[in-house]
Amino acid sequence: MNKSFLMKAAWKVIKGKDWAQKILRIRYLDGFGNAKPNIAAFSIWIGLKQEVPDLVRDSYFYIGTGDLAFSASFVERYPDIVHDILILPIGLDNDVRFLKHSLKGEVSTALAFHEHCHNFPKVSWGSWIWERYVPIRRSITCWRILHHRLLTLDNLIRRGLIMPSYCYICRQDSESIDHIFWTCDGVREIYTTFLIWLNVEYLLDCVDIHSFFVCAWNMNFSSQITSYWKAGIMTLVWKICQDRNKVVFENASFHGLSVLKFIKVYFKEMGENFTKLGHVSSAWQDYVITRNIGVRSRAASPPDMVNVYWWPPSGDWIKVNTDCSALGASGPIAAGGVYRDNWSHVRGCFHVKDGQGFMFEAELLAVITSVSIAHSRGWLKLWVEADSSYVVKLLVTKSEDVPWRFIALWKRTILLLSEFQL
Ligand SMILES: [Zn+2]
Repeated sequence: MNKSFLMKAAWKVIKGKDWAQKILRIRYLDGFGNAKPNIAAFSIWIGLKQEVPDLVRDSYFYIGTGDLAFSASFVERYPDIVHDILILPIGLDNDVRFLKHSLKGEVSTALAFHEHCHNFPKVSWGSWIWERYVPIRRSITCWRILHHRLLTLDNLIRRGLIMPSYCYICRQDSESIDHIFWTCDGVREIYTTFLIWLNVEYLLDCVDIHSFFVCAWNMNFSSQITSYWKAGIMTLVWKICQDRNKVVFENASFHGLSVLKFIKVYFKEMGENFTKLGHVSSAWQDYVITRNIGVRSRAASPPDMVNVYWWPPSGDWIKVNTDCSALGASGPIAAGGVYRDNWSHVRGCFHVKDGQGFMFEAELLAVITSVSIAHSRGWLKLWVEADSSYVVKLLVTKSEDVPWRFIALWKRTILLLSEFQL
């Protein structure tokens, strides 16, 4: 928590406008925002100083009128950079520093806390392992494996018990979570068969059980196959754990075949007891997988046919229809658009992509690009059709409340809009 508040305070020192922040900045930071070395520091600065390098490294400038960012010495030392900047479209405001991880470009306490807290799981397993069609005991076993909380012999020894570590399944190696759930010769054949059923035997190359789970989490099956994939994996590890306990405490023997049979029986029960397990796609692989695991495939119902009307623009107006895509939230974003006249003739089209972002950023990109192209072509009577009510509201209100990386383009778009009939 302390570090989060320090990070927020350091950000204020780097770009704040209060007199106290300005004094600290002049005394302790050089013209580039880096901490000056060998300055006699007082106690508060020692804490702030730790946060400055990361913030400076992770921030960008919005280039405005150039009165804040660049000193005379910078211009003298880097004339080429200054030249490159001078030929860029320049904003109307002062230069502003933005933090690149942040949507608004500013450091909030929540963002600072997230940056410093490393205890958040990298993968949100909760949404993956708790499913209504998986008995809760199996999900709990998975949870304990993923967090290394299962009482295998190596964990017991680490907690102070004095005993030999010995795998009861293969009787060759010492016992650990990775060993009994992934690398043990006795369980490899179970995984091999199971992964062949699902046509993903390449996952056998995963180095340990945790990376296998990460790959499993990232698999992109159709919804019905995903249900059986999750249930299968959780049943598999739970059954291995159960059978291993029977070997240890009841002197039973371990058979990989019985684990596989158990999984197939459970798949059958799942199909009988749960109705909403999703659908398969029309790809032949899905039908092969459902046949391998012995369940009936459910095809999705055909989509409804809907009439769609497209109204041409009137007179000498040009209409642009835009569409966008974002692969995940956030993920790679792209946008495209088609310009047509009142004869419905295509006058031009565009597509553009712009790194990682959210869906509404893709919509924003579509509008910015379509206005910019229309302006360059002299199509000043423009009808823009976009999907996002957020972007339409921004256009109507001419608000500047947009993510920082679009602010320069957006301000330019608003300027151009004054020449348009929209
Ligand atoms: Zn073993």
